[in-house]
Amino acid sequence: MGASTSHERATKGATSSAALEFVKSSPKKLLIGGKWVPSKSGKTFETLNPANEEVLALVAEGDKADVDEAVKHARKAFEEGKWPSLSPHARTRYLLKIADLIEKNADELAELESLDNGKPIFESKNIDIPGAAETFRYYAGFATKIYGDTNPSDPSMFNYTLREAVGVCGQIIPWNFPLLMASWKIAPALACGNVVILKPAEQTPLTAIRLGELILEAGLPESVVQIITGFGPGAGSAIAEHPDIDKVAFTGSGEVGKLILKASTGNLKRVSLELGGKSPNIIFPDADMPSAVFGSMLGIFMNQGQVCCAGSRVFVQQSVYEEFTDSLSTMAKGLTLGNPLDPNTKMGPLVSKEQHDRVIGYLKTGKEEGATAKTGGAAGNQERGYFIQPTVFTNVNNQMKIAREEIFGPVASAIPFKDENDVVLQGNDTTYGLAAAVWTKDINRALGVARKLKAGTVWINTYGMLDPMSPFGGYKQSGFGRELGKYAIDLYTQIKSVYAKIG
Ligand code: NAP
Ligand code: MG
Repeated sequence: MGASTSHERATKGATSSAALEFVKSSPKKLLIGGKWVPSKSGKTFETLNPANEEVLALVAEGDKADVDEAVKHARKAFEEGKWPSLSPHARTRYLLKIADLIEKNADELAELESLDNGKPIFESKNIDIPGAAETFRYYAGFATKIYGDTNPSDPSMFNYTLREAVGVCGQIIPWNFPLLMASWKIAPALACGNVVILKPAEQTPLTAIRLGELILEAGLPESVVQIITGFGPGAGSAIAEHPDIDKVAFTGSGEVGKLILKASTGNLKRVSLELGGKSPNIIFPDADMPSAVFGSMLGIFMNQGQVCCAGSRVFVQQSVYEEFTDSLSTMAKGLTLGNPLDPNTKMGPLVSKEQHDRVIGYLKTGKEEGATAKTGGAAGNQERGYFIQPTVFTNVNNQMKIAREEIFGPVASAIPFKDENDVVLQGNDTTYGLAAAVWTKDINRALGVARKLKAGTVWINTYGMLDPMSPFGGYKQSGFGRELGKYAIDLYTQIKSVYAKIG
C-alpha cells in the first residue's frame, strides 16, 4: 500500500463521491456576473479540514477589485430589472427550485459542511442542510405576499404604499453555520427582489460556493447572486465600504460589527447586525431535571459551542446546583469526540487553530479566576485537529471574564442564584441580549421570567429552537434588525408612498 495522498487524508471518512469530486476540483473560483472567475490578483488561500489540519481545497482570494466588479454586475442586474421586475410568482418558483436542489444534493452538502467546519455529520444532516432548504422554501412563499397599504387619505387624493427592494445587498457571514447563514441572508433578499453579493467566512467557503453552483443550476438570471470568497480585511471591508452597495447584512463578532457600522457612514447604507451573545440558561428546582440537563447540554455543546445563541451562562438555583452540575458534567463527559464524518461522533473539533487557542486561553483564565473545571478544561487528546474537551465550570460568578465574554466554544459557566429576582438581575447583567432560556414547571414563573429577560429570543423548557417563521436577532450589543419570519422583509424592502390626485 502506498502512502495516502493529501486529498485522501483531508477527506478521510467522506463517502459522498460528489463531495469528494467537488473538493478535488480546486482552486475554487468567484461567482461574478453568472460566471466562475479567478480573483483578479490570481491569489488563492487554503481551506482546511479542522479535524486533521489537512488542506481540503484552494479558494480564490477576492479583494476590493473583485468586489468592484461584482458590484458593477449586480447594479446592472438590479437597474435593468432582470430580477426586481420579474413576476413575484416567478421569483417564488426560482426559490423553490433552489430549495429542491439543496435537498437533492443534501448528502454532498452535509459532508462538505462537516469537512470544512468540523461539525458532526448528524448535525449537518439534521440541522444545517434541511434548515437551509426550509429557509429558501419559506421565503419562496413570501415573494407573493409582500403587501403595501392603501391609506386613509383625503377623498381628493389616492395614497398607497409600495414595498420595494433595497437594491444591491452585501452579506457577510461567519463560519459556524455556513450554508444556513448563507440561506438566512440570500433567501429573504431574493424574495424581495434584491440582488446580492455574499462573502462567506474564510474558514468555511465550500458550501457557499456549492450553493452558487446550485443557484446557477436553478437558472436564476445572471448577476442576481455573486459569491466572493476572501478575507475580512479585503473582500469584507470592500463590501462594507462600497459606495454603490445599498445595504449590508452582517453576522459575526461585535468587534467587526462596529467596523461595518462605521464603514456604512460613507454612503449611509442600511445595516443589520447579528452579533454574539452570552445567553443565560436558567434552571429552577421545579424543572423536569432530565430534560433540563439534556437541553442545557445541547444548548452549550452543540456545534462545539460555536453558536451565537449558546446557553453559555447556566444559572442554577442554589438548592439544586450540585446535583444539576454533576449531571451536566457526567453527560458532557460522555460526549464522543472524533472525526465529524463518523455518525457516532457527538463533538468535532473547533473550526480553526485560532478559535482553539482562543478557547484554551479562556480555560486558563477561568481557572485563574477561581472557577473549577468539573469536567474537561483542556484540549482533546486527539493527535491532530482542533479538539477541546466539553467543559463545565463551577464556582463561577457573573463578574468573571468567563461569564462576561463570548468564549464561542464548548464551555459552560455554571452560576448559582438565590431566587427569581436575583436570576433576572444577573441574567440581564450582560452587554449582550441575543437569547435566554428558563426551565420550570410553573407556567406563571416561566411566562413572567420570559417577559423580564432582555433577549431577542426566549425558550421555555427547551433550548435552541429556531424556525424560519420566527424572528431572530438581538437586544443590546447583540445587534439590531430581525432576521427570519416576516421581519426579514423589513430588512430587505423600503417603503414608497404614492399620492395620486383624483379629479
Ligand atoms: P468575525 O471576524 O466577526 O467574522 C465574521 C465575518 O466577518 C467573516 O466573513 C469575516 O471574514 C468578516 N470580516 C472580518 N473582518 C472584517 C472587516 N474588517 N470588514 C468586513 N468583514 C470582516 O468573526 P471571527 O473572527 O471568525 O470569530 C471571532 C469571534 O466572533 C468568535 O470567537 C465569536 O465570539 C464571534 N462570532 C460570532 C458569530 C455569531 O454568529 N454571532 C459567528 C462567528 C464568530 P473572514 O472569514 O475572512 O475573517
Ligand atoms: Mg475549513
